Amino acid sequence: MDGLMMDYQLTLPTILRRAEQYFGGKEVVTRLPDKSFHRYTYADMTRRAKQLAAALQKLGLERGDRVGTLCWNHYQHLEAYFGIPCAGFVLHTLNLRLHPNDIGYIALNAGDRALIVDASLMPLVEQFLPRTKVEHVFVVEESYEELLASADEGEWRDPGLEENEAAAMCYTSGTTGLPKGVVYTHRSTMLHTLGVAAANPLGLGLSEQDVILPVVPMFHANAWGYPYVAAMQGAKQVFPGPHLDAESLLDDFVQERVTWTAGVPTIWLGILQLLDAEPKRWDLSAMKGMLVGGSAAPRSMIAGFQERHGLRVCHGWGMTETSPVASMASLPGELAQADRDTQYDYIAMQGVPLPLVELRARGADGNEIPHDGETMAELEVRGPWVAGAYYDTPGTSGRWTEDGWFRTGDIVSFDPQGHIQIKDRSKDVIKSGGEWISSVDLENALMAHPAVAEAAVIAVPDEKWQERPLAVVVVKQGATATPEQLREFIAPHFAKWWLPDHVVFVSEIPKTAVGKFKKTALREQFSAQPVA
Ligand code: AMP
Repeated sequence: MDGLMMDYQLTLPTILRRAEQYFGGKEVVTRLPDKSFHRYTYADMTRRAKQLAAALQKLGLERGDRVGTLCWNHYQHLEAYFGIPCAGFVLHTLNLRLHPNDIGYIALNAGDRALIVDASLMPLVEQFLPRTKVEHVFVVEESYEELLASADEGEWRDPGLEENEAAAMCYTSGTTGLPKGVVYTHRSTMLHTLGVAAANPLGLGLSEQDVILPVVPMFHANAWGYPYVAAMQGAKQVFPGPHLDAESLLDDFVQERVTWTAGVPTIWLGILQLLDAEPKRWDLSAMKGMLVGGSAAPRSMIAGFQERHGLRVCHGWGMTETSPVASMASLPGELAQADRDTQYDYIAMQGVPLPLVELRARGADGNEIPHDGETMAELEVRGPWVAGAYYDTPGTSGRWTEDGWFRTGDIVSFDPQGHIQIKDRSKDVIKSGGEWISSVDLENALMAHPAVAEAAVIAVPDEKWQERPLAVVVVKQGATATPEQLREFIAPHFAKWWLPDHVVFVSEIPKTAVGKFKKTALREQFSAQPVA
């Protein structure tokens, strides 16, 4: 027997209408390039998003055509997040930190026909544009305004979208091989939005009373869904523009009374250092939580924010292929009164999947690994906002199992309650004498040392053991440490054979285009010339 409910399609115009109807007076604030603030309301945003949608429809683009953006986080980018998909086109966020050749490849591979770009990024665009099929370029605050003026909001018609039509595209920031396109549907985006809103990490769910500042760039996996979550919930949004240094962000948090923010650990490590140096300078009493994800959040950093500044860190895991949020750390209710150390053990894990997402890891025999917190295997994931294929990239079907789960390439352990802990990327894991060593565990232990600002651990070739761990460390300004001191500091937590044989000190660890440690560059640097 079939059910008798409405066949209501899950499409983004629903959130656009909701933001307009119920939260029209809520603010959207942007820090402009000259550091002044731009303010308007959701009513302005939705009006302009509809103008954008109608204007793009007049350009003669076909339904499903890709419209790229090459922009920092700001209100015009938010308009594009809604205007492009609500017009029946596909929002393709391009990563401005990539090499122009890569951006050109990605824009061509995706078939972008139009591009919205920040004026400051035009010199970058000129380097790759001739290699793409882009026909229209709109410069934010210049021709973009003319585009909007060419249509009235009343001209926008909801194109009667179907939920499985494409809404957005994002290319993986993978450090090996060609970038691969992930194509989100309206349905996957709507369900991801609901999933993130439902996640309620550490009891800190988001509502209309929140003020959300996504530090995560809007070109990195949908800014982790926050622009849509905030609009759906009616939360005020604050965009930092191009000002992503720790000081500017802290100023924004204070001035706009930000309650929730999100970004990769390297951002938070910088912020923690600054707060430690000047603990009284910023009043962060409004801040209820910071989502940290994209790489492992060191336990010492989570504890540092909480113990020294009363700030709660929520740890999330995900991938471009999972929209991206797939799991969040959670503290089991029975541990609410547990000692802080036990609590941090849980909060530092990557936690349990969001509702509707499933996780598993299987050993070589094909059976699920024991949930003992130790056994490691590759994490597999499935769910309504997990990619089922890459866009136009032959030879990649092996990333999915025969029964339809996505192979993440992350090495994981499960604790008895099913909480996951990411131990490594499969290509970063260190295989010493046939046994795995988790570079992430070593990095977290090193970053707990008071003199250490950042630490990355990589495998270097070894005649006897095939690979051995090498620690690459940045010390905090004015601090000192010796390799022996660092090894001694972490020794109590590991088997002896896990300890890095060598520790090298550098002034900076190279980062990827989305701010993660770039271990490929470190491996290139250090495996060629053995460390003394
Ligand atoms: P991207 O597609 O650029 O977002 O990268 C996804 C990858 O980032 C994942 O496969 C993980 O290797 C890594 N990652 C994301 N979040 C975390 C986390 N909380 N802890 C450890 N690794 C993470």
